[in-house]
Amino acid sequence: MIDQARTILEKTFGYPSFKPFQEEVIKGVLNRQDTLVILPTGGGKSLCYIIPAMIFDGLTIVVSPLISLMEDQIGQLTQTGIPAVCLNSTLTSEVYEQNIRLLVENKIKLLYLAPETLMMQRTLELLGNLSIDLLAVDEAHCVSEWGHDFRPEYRKVQEFRKKIPNACVMALTATATPQVRKDILTLFKIPQKNFFMGSFNRDNLFLDVQIKNNPQAQLINFIKKFADKSGIIYCTTRKSVDNLCGVLTAKGIKAKPYHAGLDDITRKQNQLEFIRDDIQIMVATIAFGMGIDKPDVRFIVQYDLPKNIETYYQQIGRAGRDGLQSDCLLLYAQTDTQTITRFIMQKETNLQEIEHKKLSDMLGFARNLQCLRTPLLEYFGETFPRNCQLCKNCKPNQEELADITLEAQKFLSCIKRTEEIFGAGHIIDVLRGSKAKKVLNFAHDKLSTYGIGKDIGTREWKYICEQLLAHDLMVATAPHGSLKLTPKAWAVFKGEKKVIAPKFHKEPMAANNDLATESCDNKLFEQLRQKRKLMADQMGLPPYAIFTDKTLIELARVFPSSEESLQQIHGIGTYKQETFGQTFLDEIQTYCTENKIDEMDRFLVPPKKKKTKTSTGKPPRYKYFGDLFNTGVSAKELADTNKIQLPTVLSHLATFIREGFELKKTREFILLSKTDDATWEQVKQAFDEHGTLALKPIFTQMGQEISYDRLHLLRLNYLIQNQKT
Ligand code: ADP
Ligand code: MG
Repeated sequence: MIDQARTILEKTFGYPSFKPFQEEVIKGVLNRQDTLVILPTGGGKSLCYIIPAMIFDGLTIVVSPLISLMEDQIGQLTQTGIPAVCLNSTLTSEVYEQNIRLLVENKIKLLYLAPETLMMQRTLELLGNLSIDLLAVDEAHCVSEWGHDFRPEYRKVQEFRKKIPNACVMALTATATPQVRKDILTLFKIPQKNFFMGSFNRDNLFLDVQIKNNPQAQLINFIKKFADKSGIIYCTTRKSVDNLCGVLTAKGIKAKPYHAGLDDITRKQNQLEFIRDDIQIMVATIAFGMGIDKPDVRFIVQYDLPKNIETYYQQIGRAGRDGLQSDCLLLYAQTDTQTITRFIMQKETNLQEIEHKKLSDMLGFARNLQCLRTPLLEYFGETFPRNCQLCKNCKPNQEELADITLEAQKFLSCIKRTEEIFGAGHIIDVLRGSKAKKVLNFAHDKLSTYGIGKDIGTREWKYICEQLLAHDLMVATAPHGSLKLTPKAWAVFKGEKKVIAPKFHKEPMAANNDLATESCDNKLFEQLRQKRKLMADQMGLPPYAIFTDKTLIELARVFPSSEESLQQIHGIGTYKQETFGQTFLDEIQTYCTENKIDEMDRFLVPPKKKKTKTSTGKPPRYKYFGDLFNTGVSAKELADTNKIQLPTVLSHLATFIREGFELKKTREFILLSKTDDATWEQVKQAFDEHGTLALKPIFTQMGQEISYDRLHLLRLNYLIQNQKT
């Protein structure tokens, strides 16, 4: 049965392999074992029940907490050719009745329900007459009071479970805490051995943390990299959401706000615009997130320090569900903690201490100067070796470093002279020679450190202060943030230790190139995106329900020219190929003809810069295939052993010759192509006329009678005959 699952993965979803744990989980469920799956956001939990649902004869019920999540999933399933419906209060009576009819006629594989709807009398009656094989409880942390989204009705799902003893139950969540896990296992009586938990490392997210020095400029500079790709910016307060949204809009960036102060309709409208790519950026408070499964969120910015590491992790988790590289930027300042502290003080006293501790852990994480993944994953009980190569400390952003030892000495000695009882603001005032009342009252204008830091602006001093905290040379103590020196400060005083930090930027830095799309033809990618958006709007769907960005990038890299090669593209299964394939093939074909690009040629060498070595230093694929072919391996064998199509191999070999390498002559191709002499002569003429780069002109000239597969063979034959020997 697991073979059947793999076939569905490839044919229906167009994915070449399972993600971690999917295979084990699916195997267990197909053997009707009750299971708990804990995988991070984007880990591919949905397929764990969708694939079994397609294999089982009976119905699969999916319990999901939010209508928006259900609708999103059903939209995506429908576009993949999988019959799924939901029942909820927002449906019109016609749709509701129609869904019931389909269910009764056994035409539906997955039924999505909120727990409230599930427990309604009329739903129970309906389900009583249906054969149910699987009950999937998505976002299962909602059953636990220890979870962040406790929903009492979720616990009632267990009562329903008792009514269908023969069905298998599966709980899924991204919340990994032991308490939540225990609650779920106990409630659904899932045996400990059927519990799967994947790593919480999201290895496609780049983690950057910057001290705020000019946050708006830092933000604008960061989002410049993303053209019009989707992103979310989180702020602590509603007011800063509104402000920032105004700033971005004024700069011509399409952004909308989301927070609890907006009415329900505006919030829903803004969310929909974000999902449908009508706007680029959602500026939001913590209220935004649950209820969106948008896979192509390319960046997350936390414009203020989050209140704890769970929140940080959950928010960055919304980036890059599709597995493509995405960027996370945390901007923070010591002062951010004041707003959060105020929130904490309003809570029950017994909770306050825990929350303060969590906040200081978060601040500690932001100030960490070593691999950020290590403390992050440790927080969730995972050990991670240092050096992830995907965070600002492992891979500094080519940031210029500066020696700030002298400034550090001035700052630290000013703390010492004022007896370690003042906060950063006052220290900076003294250093800058301020005439503020507080300075004069304490006679700090008489100190030797008074005015020794005049040449440096307040913002830069604040930045230096953050660096000294991050370097552990001093600590800020509660409740007023008085600065105190640590033992490490002495080495700096004595000049035994230098303080090196990223340079302070008065002006925003220049933007880097985007990583995600650099390996494809960006112009075609943009065209395909526009096409996708147009189709999505006509169909009332989010664009990603048609093709994800990952699919578009591959299309714009491989330039498929036939349905067979389209099937090789990530995320294109049979249904999508039949529904959308031709439209995209036409678009690509036109582009290729206009730009004289041939299918596989582009697969091998990046545009314009032809190289015999790729950026990774490995020889290009055509060289690999050509060399092997010359040792006597046949083209067919190359295709089989590399699990690619024969025309792909042939294109590699054609490029091999065009790049000036010699390919051994063989009769294999002409034999394979089964062409009579007269046709062969015509084909040769056509190649003489049009060249060998594109096959379309040859195809047209030959009256569309010779298939592309044969043309691939004939082209190679032609090139072999004409190669200089
Ligand atoms: P989760 O519910 O765990 O957050 P999803 O089920 O929403 O994750 O899956 C995240 C994305 O990964 C989706 O776009 C999904 O289609 C994709 N995906 C799932 N399984 C695979 C796979 N085996 N290969 C490639 N992509 C996958
Ligand atoms: Mg999910």
